[in-house]
Amino acid sequence: MTHSHPVNTTRQIERLVTGQATSDGAGVKLSRILTQDLQHRLDPFLMLDAFGSDKPDDYIAGFPDHPHRGFETVTYMIAGRMLHRDSAGNEGLLQNGGVQWMTAGKGVIHSEIPQQDAGVMEGFQLWLNLHSSEKMNDPWYRDFQNEQLPQFQTHEGVSVTVIAGASHGVQGAVTREITQALYLDVHMPEGTRFEQSLPDGHNAFVYVYRGQVSIAGQAVPLQRMAILASTPQADGVVIEASADAKLILVSGKPLKEPIVQYGPFVMNTKEEIYQAMTDFRDGRLGESPKQVGGLP
Ligand code: FE
Repeated sequence: MTHSHPVNTTRQIERLVTGQATSDGAGVKLSRILTQDLQHRLDPFLMLDAFGSDKPDDYIAGFPDHPHRGFETVTYMIAGRMLHRDSAGNEGLLQNGGVQWMTAGKGVIHSEIPQQDAGVMEGFQLWLNLHSSEKMNDPWYRDFQNEQLPQFQTHEGVSVTVIAGASHGVQGAVTREITQALYLDVHMPEGTRFEQSLPDGHNAFVYVYRGQVSIAGQAVPLQRMAILASTPQADGVVIEASADAKLILVSGKPLKEPIVQYGPFVMNTKEEIYQAMTDFRDGRLGESPKQVGGLP
């Protein structure tokens, strides 16, 4: 239980964004909410995909072996089961409310394959950039089961899961010193409000995945991302729910570095992208799981 009212002046909504229907991996249908054209506006965030379907054909093929370099992927599985395997020999089952945080760093090859052939699969994958000084660090990952994620409830009954950063004095599962990423899942009963302080200059957005909310008097409908304006007078965001609603709230400190992306590689220069492609082609970007203990 917390009673804090940390926000004096809320940020306003700068823009509402509708996701674009697309498919990725071996044909997984998803909605790309944070697209490449928003990478500078929402620096340090590079991508946000929402997946949600009760039709196995939309997800069953999953994401077979593919590489990443230069950033972090954060997968939040609201419902469903997905098995992750990577080139470092790690394996983890991500399910019902769990989070996988993976720092690709200098390179990982991994697969993400659904472990169900019926029922609902729903969740998000967020890509968080790394500072140039960290892009070639060793890869790192951790799976958090839902009960391992810090959670709290406000006195109004708003339930908050703190995936990264800190909220109302509750430290999240993951802390990032450079990007200072905040990642909250917020469940709001009808008639409640939720306040979150946000540092000056940090880029922030809200995505509503159940119901709808309003911010500074403006509605954020279901399945919309609200990009929050970075006005210096505002010290956070105040979210109001006139009906039951669920949303994610994400913010971070911009890196203000050049962003060069080619598919699953995100670096600072074209030369670094060519290097990533060469390293991948020559088998130097993570060891493929198929090669472990394998070929002569
Ligand atoms: Fe991946």
